[in-house]
Amino acid sequence: MARHDWIIVGAGFTGAVLAERIASELGQRVLVIDRRQHVAGNAHDQLDAAGILVHTYGPHIFHTNSPKVWAYLSRFTEWRPYFHRVLGMIEGQLVPIPFNLNALYALFPPGLAARLEDRLTDRYAYGARVPILQLRQSTDADLKMLAQYVYQQVFEGYTKKQWGLAPDELDASVTGRVPVLVSRDDRYFQDTYQAMPREGYTRLFERMLDHPNIEVQLGVEFADLPSAPDARVVFTGAIDEFYRYQFGPLEYRSLRFVFETHEVEHYQPVGTVNFPTNFDFTRTTEQKYLTGQRSPRTTTITEYPEAHRPGENEAYYPVPREVNQTLYQRYLALSSDDADRLFFAGRLADYKYYNMDQAVARALQLFEQRIATLPRS
Ligand code: FAD
Ligand code: UDP
Repeated sequence: MARHDWIIVGAGFTGAVLAERIASELGQRVLVIDRRQHVAGNAHDQLDAAGILVHTYGPHIFHTNSPKVWAYLSRFTEWRPYFHRVLGMIEGQLVPIPFNLNALYALFPPGLAARLEDRLTDRYAYGARVPILQLRQSTDADLKMLAQYVYQQVFEGYTKKQWGLAPDELDASVTGRVPVLVSRDDRYFQDTYQAMPREGYTRLFERMLDHPNIEVQLGVEFADLPSAPDARVVFTGAIDEFYRYQFGPLEYRSLRFVFETHEVEHYQPVGTVNFPTNFDFTRTTEQKYLTGQRSPRTTTITEYPEAHRPGENEAYYPVPREVNQTLYQRYLALSSDDADRLFFAGRLADYKYYNMDQAVARALQLFEQRIATLPRS
């Protein structure tokens, strides 16, 4: 009998959830490998040289509307309630992002702001989340003017930096993540559950993977693993890499993170400050707001977007647009003959712009709908 029933490639949310489910619900033995020297994938966190808990691959804020995902993860962590706030530097002022009624009154003269608020609440309900690309379709002259202003001040430059593309060259869901908010709610997310794992993400993963049926091997490349023909495989890395780029590389965006420690208690007024129109970075996040840590010093992470160069930097973001989806489907079709033995899931393997909760939901669904119903090999 094979030593492991399953090989799971990647110890991020997707891989860890599937390993935990297979080990504890099916009683099967799982080997989880990761090429990195740690678990938790892109959600990894650790103390830096100044003793500040930082997110190794950029700031990660947990939020979800799914009671199921929330209940599942709550088995492995306690939570610290946290509402993320973002301010954007617009025309020299720091105003709430998503752009909302408070931003409107901060940037426009009171009379005009009141008129624009009326136009917005006439056209949309109070509390509506209006994607900028939709607001730009407005026929009302005032709303058209407002849409053009927000497009130029908030979205155009930021998106060009982040993706190397204009907002309308990307799937509308990308800029739709940060809509214009017809409300005075200054929170970045409006999800039902918003919190951070009290002891950090890495601790959550350690608990999830702590099971007698799970073995974790770190610093291990899938390609270097001795062949295990009897084991089923879940691959959570990049699907084009798995298939040796035979149809050419898929498009991803990367980031360069600059970590800086400052000898002050707080460096900026909120968790994140966005810089849509100036500099070549997009945003700076002060980790202590997210984690609730107390210290006389503080560490910030600034994100500099870059093109992805395979083998040189990390593929952090799939680039949601049609041409890439077509290429992705060609790669996915290569797995169709192996449907019961090889599974792709995760942000890179599915080529979907998942948040953490969506990666968890996807893994739970894959487990319930396809893996739990497989005949034992
Ligand atoms: P990953 O976490 O990427 O895990 C995949 C793992 O597979 C990696 O550890 C990798 O090393 C390993 N691997 C890949 N190929 C191989 C191979 N061939 N051999 C061995 N190992 C391999 N989500 C939120 O909900 N909130 C946020 O605030 C948030 N902020 C983010 C900020 C940034 C900068 C980024 C990039 C993402 C952010 N996310 C956020 C998204 C979040 O990181 C993902 O949803 C989540 O990490 C996806 O989990 P995953 O398991 O699919 O992939
Ligand atoms: N965006 C923008 N200006 C902002 C914030 C976001 O143009 O001030 C756009 C940009 O295209 C960005 C997308 O909205 O990539 C999604 O933003 P989000 O903060 O969700 O990105 P993530 O945290 O995943 O990097």
